[in-house]
Amino acid sequence: MALPTKIQLEIVTPDKSVVREDVDEVELPGSDGYFGVLPGHTPLLATLQVGEMWYRTGAEKHYLALAFGFVEVLPDRVTVLAQLAERAQDIDIARAEAAKRRAEERMAASVPDIDFERARVAMMKSLIRLQVASRSRTQV
Ligand code: ATP
Repeated sequence: MALPTKIQLEIVTPDKSVVREDVDEVELPGSDGYFGVLPGHTPLLATLQVGEMWYRTGAEKHYLALAFGFVEVLPDRVTVLAQLAERAQDIDIARAEAAKRRAEERMAASVPDIDFERARVAMMKSLIRLQVASRSRTQV
C-alpha cells in the first residue's frame, strides 16, 4: 500500500477549530518532549505540555502556542485537542508580557496562600506566547 504524502492536520480547542489544513510536517510539544511527524507516521496517542508547535506546508512554517490536551497521530492525520491553541499572529504581546510580570510577582512573593504551581503554569504560558509571537515577526 502506498504511503500517504500529506497529513490532514486538525487543531481544536474547547472554543473553536483553529487549523484544518493538509500539511507536510508537524512538530509537537509532547509531555515527554518535542516530537516530529511526517506522512506515514506510526499511530500514537500523546499528551501535550505547554509549548510551541509548528507545521510546515512546502517551505512555509506556521507556529502556534499550545497548552495541555492530547494529540492523536495516524499515518495520514494529526488531530490536536488542546486547552489552548494560538496562532503566532493572534498573540497579544502586551497581554503576554503583563501575564509574565504578574506570574513573576506571584512566584517571588512569599505569602503563605500563594498558588505557586498556578503561577508557574501562567509563567510558562506567557513565555511560550512571547516565543511564538516573535517567530511570526522574524519568519514570514
Ligand atoms: P491572561 O492572564 O492575560 O488572561 P491567561 O494565560 O490567564 O492570560 P488563559 O486563561 O490561558 O489566559 O486564556 C484565556 C483566553 O485568552 C484564551 O482564549 C486564550 O487563547 C486567550 N489569550 C490569553 N492570553 C493571550 C494572549 N497574550 N494573546 C492572545 N490570546 C490570549
